[in-house]
Amino acid sequence: MRISLIIAAGGSGSRFKAGVSGKALRSSKQPATKLFYPLGGSPLLLRTLQSFQAIPEVKETIIALPQGVDREVKSWIRAHGLQGVTCVRGGKTRAESVRRALSRSSSRQSWVMIHDGARPFIKAETVRGLVNQAKKKSWDACLVAKKVVSTIKQAVLGKTQVERTLDRRNLYEAETPQLFRRSSLLKAYRTFSKFKEALTDEASLMEAAGYPVHLVANEKWNPKITTVSDFELAEIFIRSKEGMLTRTGLGSDTHRLIAGQPFWLGGIRLKSEYGPLGHSDGDALLHALIDALLGAAALGDIGDFFSDKNPENKNRSSVSMLKSSLELLLKKGWKPAQIDAVIHLERPQLGKAKQQMVRQIASLIGVSQDSVSIKAKTFEGDGTGGAGLLVRCEVLAVIQRS
Ligand code: MG
Repeated sequence: MRISLIIAAGGSGSRFKAGVSGKALRSSKQPATKLFYPLGGSPLLLRTLQSFQAIPEVKETIIALPQGVDREVKSWIRAHGLQGVTCVRGGKTRAESVRRALSRSSSRQSWVMIHDGARPFIKAETVRGLVNQAKKKSWDACLVAKKVVSTIKQAVLGKTQVERTLDRRNLYEAETPQLFRRSSLLKAYRTFSKFKEALTDEASLMEAAGYPVHLVANEKWNPKITTVSDFELAEIFIRSKEGMLTRTGLGSDTHRLIAGQPFWLGGIRLKSEYGPLGHSDGDALLHALIDALLGAAALGDIGDFFSDKNPENKNRSSVSMLKSSLELLLKKGWKPAQIDAVIHLERPQLGKAKQQMVRQIASLIGVSQDSVSIKAKTFEGDGTGGAGLLVRCEVLAVIQRS
């Protein structure tokens, strides 16, 4: 079975925006829509996309997005190595967004799966269950649905009076994903070209077109994150599942100082007659920082990635090694949150250079300046550590889920 997956993410999330007043969600940089708010450190929509990575039948993914956000989405796709994902501009309604995405999907895939961008907790096993049932029973249309447990009252339209109580034994709440044979779905769209704009899901269109639509019961929690309360609940759910959201690492580095070398420290050049002896530019603070970051993610140490045996690393800038290390971290789903550093150095005195290093490091690792602390100590006049002039740095780094 070859499937085109369509993610409906075109809405503006007006119900959600109206409710964003809680401190937890109010930030200096307001995301464009609810799908871009971080959930356990990752944007909601990214979590949804990642849920389908383990489904081999999904051969391509088309996301219908609101205007002006596709650059951001493309950057996650690159950073997380997501395969076969295309972005298209969504329409005014959900139905229009899905139709636009469908027109960009490849007819080589004979099945179409449609999923709400705001359902990030869909389990791979649930998706597999849906795919297997459709295959086995040769269905044209099926969807994931939850059995209704509450008693449902139907009111007289526009009134408070109960008209009747529905028999809940036969009631299901429609969820996504929904899976359709492409030829049948296209036929239903053609038949119901006017009606389709009012649809809240594609299964209804198939029902209207006379196709049998089948339910695959889902017991797992697969909520559509709609309100701020949904979001807060989802955050608690993720914390309980994923546990620790920050980790800490320690790094240390020492270089001998010799006359006539340029002195790089913390990504800036110090005025000094002495500078570090080293294979690269000898920036002990950035080396200790790299070790602390790699250590926090349990990735190894600086020598594993930037060996001094490798001639490519000769005179290599420590800034470029730091950038490569941040990419390694990001691939594992981590980013820096905070660092605290100590520099041991007899001379030159650092003075204003400390603040310059704070600015430089904050910008290099993408945190605010008040998340970077740098302290300086001398060797108490010995100046040498017993082995000539030295610079020694220790860094503690905290990383968080990206
Ligand atoms: Mg070093």
